Amino acid sequence: MTIGRYRFMNEQPVNLDGFAAVNPDLGLIAFNSPNDPAPGLDIDDGRVVFMDGKHQAQFDIVDEFIARHGLDLTVADEAMAIDDATYAHMLIDPGVSRAECVRLAGGMTPAKLAKALSVLRPAELVMAVTKCRARKTPSNQAHVTNRSDDPLLLAADAALAAAFGFREIETTVPVLGDAPSNAIAVSIGAAVGSPGVLVQCSVEEAMELEMGMRGLVSYAETVSLYGTEQIFIDGDDTPWSKAFLTSGYASRGIKMRVTSGGGAEALMGAAEGCSMFYLEARCVALARAIGSQGVQNGGIDSASVAGSVPGGAKAMMAENLMVMLRALESCTGNDALMSESDVRRTSRTHPIFIAGTDFICSGFGSIQRYDNMFGPSQWNAEDLDDYLAMQRDWGVDGGLRTPDEHEVARLRERAAHAVRDVYAILGLADFTDQWLAQAIDAAGSKDVPDADLMTPLTASRLIRDTKVTMLDVIAALDEAGYDIEAQRMLDMLIARVSGDYLQTSAIFDESMHVLSAITDPNDYAGPGTGYSPSLQRQVQIDAIRQQQSVLDISARQLQHANSRLSVIGPAQRSDDPRDVVIGVSPATGQAIWQTLCGLGVDQGLDELLAGLEEEGCVGRIVRFTDTIDLGLIGLQAARMSGSGIGIGLQAKGTALIHRRDLSPLANLELYSVAPSLDRAAYRQLGLNAGRHAKGATPQPQRNPYSDEAIEARYHTKVVALVAIERQFVDGSSPQQLELDQP
Ligand code: CA
Repeated sequence: MTIGRYRFMNEQPVNLDGFAAVNPDLGLIAFNSPNDPAPGLDIDDGRVVFMDGKHQAQFDIVDEFIARHGLDLTVADEAMAIDDATYAHMLIDPGVSRAECVRLAGGMTPAKLAKALSVLRPAELVMAVTKCRARKTPSNQAHVTNRSDDPLLLAADAALAAAFGFREIETTVPVLGDAPSNAIAVSIGAAVGSPGVLVQCSVEEAMELEMGMRGLVSYAETVSLYGTEQIFIDGDDTPWSKAFLTSGYASRGIKMRVTSGGGAEALMGAAEGCSMFYLEARCVALARAIGSQGVQNGGIDSASVAGSVPGGAKAMMAENLMVMLRALESCTGNDALMSESDVRRTSRTHPIFIAGTDFICSGFGSIQRYDNMFGPSQWNAEDLDDYLAMQRDWGVDGGLRTPDEHEVARLRERAAHAVRDVYAILGLADFTDQWLAQAIDAAGSKDVPDADLMTPLTASRLIRDTKVTMLDVIAALDEAGYDIEAQRMLDMLIARVSGDYLQTSAIFDESMHVLSAITDPNDYAGPGTGYSPSLQRQVQIDAIRQQQSVLDISARQLQHANSRLSVIGPAQRSDDPRDVVIGVSPATGQAIWQTLCGLGVDQGLDELLAGLEEEGCVGRIVRFTDTIDLGLIGLQAARMSGSGIGIGLQAKGTALIHRRDLSPLANLELYSVAPSLDRAAYRQLGLNAGRHAKGATPQPQRNPYSDEAIEARYHTKVVALVAIERQFVDGSSPQQLELDQP
């Protein structure tokens, strides 16, 4: 029989996650499996003859490729001789340059680098990543997909993603045949949103390369590498075939990085008993060896496997650091959703987010979870506001910004129209006005019931049959009057010829300047150095759409203004034993009309008066302008009332019952949680005050059950309302008010 507290805990989302017991034989171990080889390297006449526990005769295809192409043998002796802790120390020492750390890593075998990095603690990983990433300016990558491959929705969502600041957009397809249409729609949408956004369409390798050669995409990152030979064999691949494919992209000026990630070998049942981190060290060394521009790693599709073992989240971040030390662009995972728990997924991303990387997410789902055809991401449209708030909280640049809502609406409209016009000119498809309108407004594909699922398939077939290239798309855009977008897309093709964005960690800024390890090198060397947002960028980070000033809150109060309260003269002391004074705060009925629970202050007063009347008492409203302190207001009210009982009411809704002989802070009953009060609560307060006035002892009110973050929701408003109250403190004598009938 499970006890209540455990039944309750079992219902929490984290308990939907899988947690694996450590099992080195299956590769279910993050670092340092007993089967990992001891680091070692012997060089004979400029040739590696022994590496990480194996003589060259025993090398598998992964060892062979790394040994022949992946190591800088000129520093190998020096690098292999460094003590692990000493190298780890260099990584976090601001006095040791990134270049020096990278130089030494070049001579380290996979086992050596894995062992040295396993020494780092989480906070040290943050420092090492801060220093060792290649590009100075952090960035982010989005997924833009939808369940119906709707070209209009893809374009509108790509424009939105670009407006939010994503500099790479990755799309894919639920239906392979739709790929060319998706690539074109997303490219047009991205160009509407911003210049210089890179676009990829992640599909089967041959089709992806073909689309790249036709200019339909501008980068690729899904050539997968694995840490054991068996998986290459299972996939009918070798490191040489991967190297050839990589070169195929680069030769056409297409930015290219590979994908790997801890846990993949365990997931495919071919980990050879080794740790995830050691196998990933082999992948990263291989990525360097085959000439890739960068690596997308950190679990990726096997993030939940890596995350299921002790130290898994730390290992995923250490994988990213390893890429940086191999002098490659690091696209740091945080794409596939690794946990059902918001707490765990945030915890996994957060160290990377505060350190900053080339791409903090390898695929932030800028669309809703249900439309993410890679599967839900670690971060999705559901989390955009959270992510922006996190940037603001920590003052860090996570690559995103808050666009103006009207501007986003304009961009979505323009993007969807542009795709419709281009598809019409190229004879690919016709779209109804209703479909167009739905796609522009849609929060997701469920909001576009008029989308025809055959349209993208037919369009894609025509694109392939008639050999449409990006130049044809650009000509059609120009013909339809989208000259800005046509120029932006042409600029991207021109950039492919000049090839500057084949530099390590290259992205374009919005003026089409390449930001890369060459043009924007990370020069972190301790506090006050390295990346810090420009003033303009900091304003973008800080100015989230939810922020409110005192003026905003004043203006909102004005919308609730009414003239039910009026001054009838100076307030006097009463001798009537039925008299109960309701003392109200200085701004009541002058600048504040609505309480935090949404009730009018006048409505609260109606209930208080009615409650007093039920008990045979007479309420009298007096405004005090010498203090904003509720205890003092209540006490002064009590001293003025004939019964000796007073009610204090702040315009924001907080209320109490006081008695004339008590000290200011020792009231009889306090209704402190203003946001959760309602008419009934004020009525009860009036009744209780009446009973106190008659000498009875009423049962005190209890706060209602609530699990709201009351303080988070209301405290900023309270600060503003208190500031407004203070503006009305003038020390004048109390005045009696009259409340007109509504
Ligand atoms: Ca990606």
